[in-house]
Amino acid sequence: MEVNLLQTKIGYLKGVGPKRAELLQKELGVVTYQDMLNQFPFRYIDRSQIQKVAQISDDTVYYQLIGRITDIKLIGAPRPTRAIGRFADETGSIEVVWFKGLKWLKDRFKPNERYVLFGKATLFNGTFNFAHPEIEVYDPKDPLIGEGLQGVYFTTEKLKDHGLGTRAIAKIQRLILQQVMEYIPETLPQDILREESLIPRKYAYYQIHLPANNIEIQQATRRLKYEEHFFFQLKLLRNKMHREQTIKGHVFSVVGNYFNDFYNHHLPFSLTNAQKRVIKEIRKDLNSGHQMNRLLQGDVGSGKTIVALMVMLLALDNGFQACLMAPTEILASQHYATLKEQIEGMGINLALLTGSTKISERRKIYASLADGSLQIVVGTHALIESKVVFKNLGLAIIDEQHRFGVAQRSKFWEKTEVPPHTLVMTATPIPRTLAMTQYGDLDVSKIDELPPGRKPVKTYHVYQDDRFRIMRFMQRQIAEGRQIYVVYPIIKESEKTDMIALQEGYEALLHDFPEPKYKLCVCHGQLSAEDKDFEMQRFINRNAQIMVATTVIEVGVNVPNATVMIIENANRFGLSQLHQLRGRVGRGADQSFCILITDHNISQDAKKRMETMVNSNDGFEIAEVDLELRGPGETSGTRQSGQIEMLIGDLQKDGLLIQQTRARAMRLLEKDPKLALPENLMLRNHYKELFAQTFDWSQIG
Ligand code: ADP
Ligand code: MG
Repeated sequence: MEVNLLQTKIGYLKGVGPKRAELLQKELGVVTYQDMLNQFPFRYIDRSQIQKVAQISDDTVYYQLIGRITDIKLIGAPRPTRAIGRFADETGSIEVVWFKGLKWLKDRFKPNERYVLFGKATLFNGTFNFAHPEIEVYDPKDPLIGEGLQGVYFTTEKLKDHGLGTRAIAKIQRLILQQVMEYIPETLPQDILREESLIPRKYAYYQIHLPANNIEIQQATRRLKYEEHFFFQLKLLRNKMHREQTIKGHVFSVVGNYFNDFYNHHLPFSLTNAQKRVIKEIRKDLNSGHQMNRLLQGDVGSGKTIVALMVMLLALDNGFQACLMAPTEILASQHYATLKEQIEGMGINLALLTGSTKISERRKIYASLADGSLQIVVGTHALIESKVVFKNLGLAIIDEQHRFGVAQRSKFWEKTEVPPHTLVMTATPIPRTLAMTQYGDLDVSKIDELPPGRKPVKTYHVYQDDRFRIMRFMQRQIAEGRQIYVVYPIIKESEKTDMIALQEGYEALLHDFPEPKYKLCVCHGQLSAEDKDFEMQRFINRNAQIMVATTVIEVGVNVPNATVMIIENANRFGLSQLHQLRGRVGRGADQSFCILITDHNISQDAKKRMETMVNSNDGFEIAEVDLELRGPGETSGTRQSGQIEMLIGDLQKDGLLIQQTRARAMRLLEKDPKLALPENLMLRNHYKELFAQTFDWSQIG
């Protein structure tokens, strides 16, 4: 019964009608009363006060005036482009301008009627006016006047043209609530309401739309946010449970020769405690009988590669194949070279498969993957092509996951009956809230310790006109035997001009650092894979001191002798990219430097990014600022993982609440994993309703 009333079509509400109902659906997706109630105000204004025209002095606040409208004139006959009128009360008059709906203006306002005008004043040529304010006939009995706080709702020009401005929406909310408030069902069990001091749901809806004061707004907001996060966490946790209970995983019970031989004879350094701990965590997963789905976070240079290798050796010890996928050819080749060196003499079959692997070689790799003789394959996206068939893939490791889409990750699952264990490695720290939401159904391991002896990179922000000093600095570093990266932004939309900038920069450097004393190499996306590799190798072998490049070198490249990272037009890079780039230096024992070059004139956000880089070497801190500046949808390419659309919850700001609801949801599932207990009936119904049509999140790990 109750549900039905809330499901009433909005068109049936007094004063809405079919035409506006259609518009509400188009513009806001609102079909039912419930949908309308879920349009929450994004802020509140105090409408208890009526101001006077003479008081208008500020173009940042809203004014509410009562007066008459006179002198409406259309400007630009025969086809007027705007209309001007005057709004007057006993203290004076002010200009009102309209650009739309001009035809009806004259009929709309009657000279003897009194109106309520509501809006922000604009300062134009030294005087104030109102452009398209909300204007309604003044009704002394209008409940919204003198009421106090009124919600401000999202609306569109189209809706406003049809009388659905924020004030009209507020009225609609009131009408709906008058009819249905008593029928708004509770969705959370009593004990949660009590323990978390949450107000009942129906009051929350009432108070969020029609608050008497700020305390009511806070109570309502907390309750509704809590509910939204709680159900979302419940869903994530249930997906995780489902995966753990129903999807079988290979059991890697043996720690055998490969692992032990490597550990005892080939390990080039002793592992950090963090690396040891992480390997232990992973081993536990591999032995559990369930498929591992783990995210390995570790700042740039924290030593994830060796962990990957040792985990792959465990797969081999248990008779399985393993693969390591990287986002670029450069990175894949570098991984391949590193692994090859590290497992030399261990009798392991290892191959590299990328887009530029020769056909004959490729055929060999396909065949040996299919017959099982190839034990480890390192590569790019080429690994997930349908032609690649493994005999018994037991483990898939994906490096720098933010470059990969979720869909690509799950491709490995399709390759075998029992899905391989999956380890996703990322250097982009995922802020806590995202870890609990976008990645909420993955397990997380962290390498929170850098190998010993690392000096933090010193970072400076300098301006274009400092070039001479920068050049002198580069000369000194090179004289000391160091190598330098100079990175240019190449953005898809302006690729051509960006390439010119890189080219010009390269030529200027050639001029300042002439051969034969100096050698430069250059690396960008328009080179063939072979050329890129060739240039990269010259840098790695120290045949070039300066590498001019684009972000193709962003991920994973490891040249410990490089100590200077110069980033041109640094303002055009996002924080996580800057941090990644900086991570290319500071890999050896020498002091390293990162120099961010910009114009004097950059945006506030860009300034904040530069400051953050200068002040912090902590990937976590940087990721938090990044999240703050960009919002969760943008951070580290998490777009791909499916937008989480929330009605009122805010992944950016509700960290604590997310944590609380996650813990609470966990407790509830421990007691009632199937949501079958009678006291959870309401909760169960709401859960079903919420997630009936949504994307199945269990597919993403
Ligand atoms: P990332 O986590 O960024 O992928 P890498 O795996 O490339 O980092 O490691 C960065 C550098 O640190 C490499 O040169 C690697 O050999 C070295 N390294 C890794 N672990 C240790 C360790 N425990 N002690 C000393 N050096 C290490
Ligand atoms: Mg790496």
